[in-house]
Amino acid sequence: MSHWLVALVGRPNVGKSTLFNRIVGRRDAIVHDVPGVTRDRNYAEAEWAGKSFSLVDTGGYVPESEDVMEAAIREQAQIAIDEADVVLFVVDAQTGLLPSDSEIANILRKKQKKVVLVVNKIDGEKKESELGEFYKLGLGEPYSASALVGRKTGDLLDAVTKDFAVNADEKIDPRLKLAVIGKPNVGKSLFVNALLQEDRHIVTNIPGTTRDPIDAILKYYGEEILLVDTAGLRRKSKVKESIEFYSAIRTLKSIERCDVAVILIDATQGLDHQDLRIIDNATERNRAVLIAVNKWDLVEKDDNTARAFEKALKEKLRIYDFIPIIFISALTKQRVYKVIELAKQVDAEQNKRISTSKLNDILGADIKTFPPRSKSGKEIKIKYITQVKSKPPVFAFFCNEPKLIDDNYQRYLQNKICEHFTFEGVPILLSFKQK
Ligand code: GDP
Ligand code: GDP
Repeated sequence: MSHWLVALVGRPNVGKSTLFNRIVGRRDAIVHDVPGVTRDRNYAEAEWAGKSFSLVDTGGYVPESEDVMEAAIREQAQIAIDEADVVLFVVDAQTGLLPSDSEIANILRKKQKKVVLVVNKIDGEKKESELGEFYKLGLGEPYSASALVGRKTGDLLDAVTKDFAVNADEKIDPRLKLAVIGKPNVGKSLFVNALLQEDRHIVTNIPGTTRDPIDAILKYYGEEILLVDTAGLRRKSKVKESIEFYSAIRTLKSIERCDVAVILIDATQGLDHQDLRIIDNATERNRAVLIAVNKWDLVEKDDNTARAFEKALKEKLRIYDFIPIIFISALTKQRVYKVIELAKQVDAEQNKRISTSKLNDILGADIKTFPPRSKSGKEIKIKYITQVKSKPPVFAFFCNEPKLIDDNYQRYLQNKICEHFTFEGVPILLSFKQK
């Protein structure tokens, strides 16, 4: 599957976040509620004319202090032009062209990337003449729009998504692809370096992809495993927000390309909302995942420490408690190769299929003991269960009243599937169909 990334850039108050909400629109509102995770408004999935893409708003990464703000905005424009497929550069018709717009344009013009220039706040036909001065930015024809009232945003999205194939068939690489993700400073770079000792360290471009990600090949008992986008692990900046912006973009991109996401967390800090958001990003895209608790060397331990840590972590993970946890040290290399073994195991889990007869025998018995109930008292009968696909595994339940099956019952069925058939680290999808 091919996936596209669009970044919104521009100075403050031009209307980026309004445009973001306009583009993401309804889609985001219906996204499932995950307890403990506040959904980030800085990035989201969007869709236009059957083409889906991720949208990232630099407006969510503006430093508070005035003296670094301008520099941060330029820096993030640079990151956007390096990393995104399309940059949506927003300017403001009400203020007109300002010097900082020209500075951003200078950065954007230097790369062969697609930039769509939007002149926002053109709320009506009469204001169209204000478009003229923005030709001076040298970014081609400006698009007029009003994010506030939704004027002409359709034309804009046509332009943005014009080159996105609806169903691009990317070359299928049979090698296992792992993404090493996590907050800044959890130890991703050190972990990858620990895996890739000099003799194994081959950095390569995968031919056939237009975006030239830099992956590393790990030779593991004769097998080649790709660590995706390892060149992108770090980007230096003095501005915390720019590092966060870069990290968010990189996380989205590498999740998109991986078979299994290895999520690093810092043992000395425990799990916080930022870690949860990353887990959420991966599972939302139906990626198989594992958690590696890194810097384990820094934790004072007795016999029970790992068990207690794992228990506390599982409690915090709640609906993500199907994710396996491993304790590692990138510094001492403790268990770093165990992570690869676990990733292979999780990958095997997501590829497995459960036979229809087994499903009906075993789950059928659970359903009999604890049948679904509708609020109105109407009888719900699940007649037949089958696994329709793997990676991610999808189970179809044929029943008389598919719409009456509530979230709690779905959770019950998911838990039962995991209990009987494990699927460790693998998000499981259920679909309910009319018999
Ligand atoms: P950001 O800082 O670039 O994310 O800008 P915001 O989206 O927060 O918008 C800044 C202000 O401009 C807010 O008061 C918005 O309501 C207003 N605004 C955004 N888009 C439009 C528009 O198309 N027309 C008008 N008139 N106002 C807008
Ligand atoms: P990244 O931003 O996630 O790539 O993190 P780095 O790999 O750059 O690591 C951040 C800091 O944590 C560095 O100072 C590392 O030396 C340190 N670090 C990483 N892994 C470990 C570990 O397992 N144990 C200890 N003690 N320090 C670590």
